[in-house]
Amino acid sequence: MVSPTIDLLKGEIPLEQDSVVLADDALTGLVLVDIINGFCTVGAGNLAPRQPNSQISGMIKESERLARLFCEKKWPIMAFLDSHHPNKPEEPYPPHCIAGTDESNLVPALRWIENEPNVTIRRKDCFDGYLGSTEADGSNVFVDWVKKNQIKSLLVVGICTDICVLDFVCSTLSARNLGFLTPLRDVVVYSRACATFDIPLHVARDTKGALAHPQEFMHHVGLYMAKERGAKIVSEVSFDAPKITARP
Ligand SMILES: [Zn+2]
Repeated sequence: MVSPTIDLLKGEIPLEQDSVVLADDALTGLVLVDIINGFCTVGAGNLAPRQPNSQISGMIKESERLARLFCEKKWPIMAFLDSHHPNKPEEPYPPHCIAGTDESNLVPALRWIENEPNVTIRRKDCFDGYLGSTEADGSNVFVDWVKKNQIKSLLVVGICTDICVLDFVCSTLSARNLGFLTPLRDVVVYSRACATFDIPLHVARDTKGALAHPQEFMHHVGLYMAKERGAKIVSEVSFDAPKITARP
């Protein structure tokens, strides 16, 4: 449903979206942010959707499509999974995605990637997958993954557009600009494979401590803020068809 408020928002901060064609020689890595039960599966926990949600189910469907194509091509995938220690709450949110529970596991549509050799799984206990990749010795699993695979372009999808996806994109772009992520050049956010949660204003008003979080609005703002930092926002992702070389 498109409301006049959304039209107003999109009129004030319009977001031009491109399409991207991934070529076989582009060295692209796919980053899946928190596509786990605790944020995506109806009734799975305090921060899970209460009822089926088309933005979230569309995000899962597109992410699965990309994951299958990346796995067929043996291209690198990194999946961040929000996972918290039960005694270490993540302010300001209620307890969620406790390590060892099904809340912190990939959704059923993506569970198969755990066995794929091109996939790196990183459990993180903060919003930002970049910071959450830091090891006790100061090394960073995400930075090492970019360098080891010589990734030039990142395709980022997942949930929430305006929280964990945005935080990861902002940190990655700052790190790239500082020269920490050579040879990374482009950070591409695929809008149709991103989603956020929905707390309309009238619900927030009746819920102690809740902030209003209208889904379409915050999704748009999240994408816009990623673009402000230098990410490319695309609404279509396709793959270069294999080139047919004629015999001499
Ligand atoms: Zn969390």
